[in-house]
Amino acid sequence: MHRAARLDSVPPYLFADIDRKVAELRQRGVDVINLGIGDPDLPTPAPIVEALAAHAADPVLHRYPDYNGHVRFREAMAAYYARRFGVRLDPEREVLGLIGSKEGIAHLTWALAGPGDVVLVPEPGYPVYGVQARLAGAEVHWLPLVAERGFLPDLDAVPDDVRRRARLLWINYPNNPTGAVADRAFLEQAVAFCRAHDIVLASDLAYSEVGFDGYRAPSVLEVPGAREVAVEFFSLSKPYRMTGWRIGAAVGAAEVLDALAVIKTNTDSGQFGAIQMAAIRALQPDLDAEVEAGVQVYQRRRDRVVAALREAGLDPLVPRATFYLWVPTPAGMTAAECATRFLEAAGVAVTPGAAYGPHGEGYFRISLTAPDDRLDEACRRISGALRF
Ligand SMILES: *Cc1c(COP(=O)(O)O)cnc(C)c1O
Repeated sequence: MHRAARLDSVPPYLFADIDRKVAELRQRGVDVINLGIGDPDLPTPAPIVEALAAHAADPVLHRYPDYNGHVRFREAMAAYYARRFGVRLDPEREVLGLIGSKEGIAHLTWALAGPGDVVLVPEPGYPVYGVQARLAGAEVHWLPLVAERGFLPDLDAVPDDVRRRARLLWINYPNNPTGAVADRAFLEQAVAFCRAHDIVLASDLAYSEVGFDGYRAPSVLEVPGAREVAVEFFSLSKPYRMTGWRIGAAVGAAEVLDALAVIKTNTDSGQFGAIQMAAIRALQPDLDAEVEAGVQVYQRRRDRVVAALREAGLDPLVPRATFYLWVPTPAGMTAAECATRFLEAAGVAVTPGAAYGPHGEGYFRISLTAPDDRLDEACRRISGALRF
């Protein structure tokens, strides 16, 4: 078989690699605790499951769905944005349904950039932004996220010649993998930068609802003038514990969504209508309490795990949002050495920070999406693995 040359630019998908190692150890009888991937362990709230069941039998929904998302789903997203962020969206032009936000994130690059163009990508970061840019033949300019800058990129440091060819800037706050949040001033700066240089601003808002100690993440669309240059990717996966359902939306700049829709209509045919109906149910105000209950669980776990890791001599950053802990490796150990030691000596899978980009070196990421007793056990084992 002949594989397309473009595949040579793609590293193995981070989590596929970890999953394979975990599977190998489990095969050998090791009781592995997987804190590698961020995938909520709690079930989807019952009213959402019930809505799916109720709509699954509707023959109208058994036919091809609307390409841009069911009109009622788009209206529900617009109503949600108005209620949650005070942002008024035109459901017709400023909301586009997605088969999970990853789908839209992946396709956006194809709509905006190709050979000769530059995509500005934060690192460490979600791998999809950079990999898709490369697949599309565009050049990636990496924006380092470092602790001294609060894990915010330095947009002033982008060289002029790069900036002139840049078509797309990715931002992701609350941030995976660092757990960092962006203040309003940074969002304003990013909007101004993109407006000044005719760059599309893409905000990945996957963790907007997972905020701790009362923290409420803003939408970039709250910034005046943002909706002409910015699109935001909203996902139901993390807040509603619906990672398996594959539903999300892109909202914001109508012109950008039009371009994205060209790729999508020639690629997919939309998500199953009953899943869209279930998503509408999720977005109703009475389910805010379900989201909050999940967040409380992560917050409690964050506090337990931070305490246990400190006990073990580590110094994790304490996130205000996301369900990840970004933990500096013990002195003298690289991220990969740390992750390998934890997996082989303790049966605990974490993700080495360097897998998210070179500036992730010196950190590992722990996901809090495992039951409390497993997290406690994982901390005990990590502590043991660090002692020999
Ligand atoms: C989980 C995640 C996504 C993908 O979410 P889906 O809507 O399930 O595709 C996107 N971006 C980041 C940063 C994530 O962590």
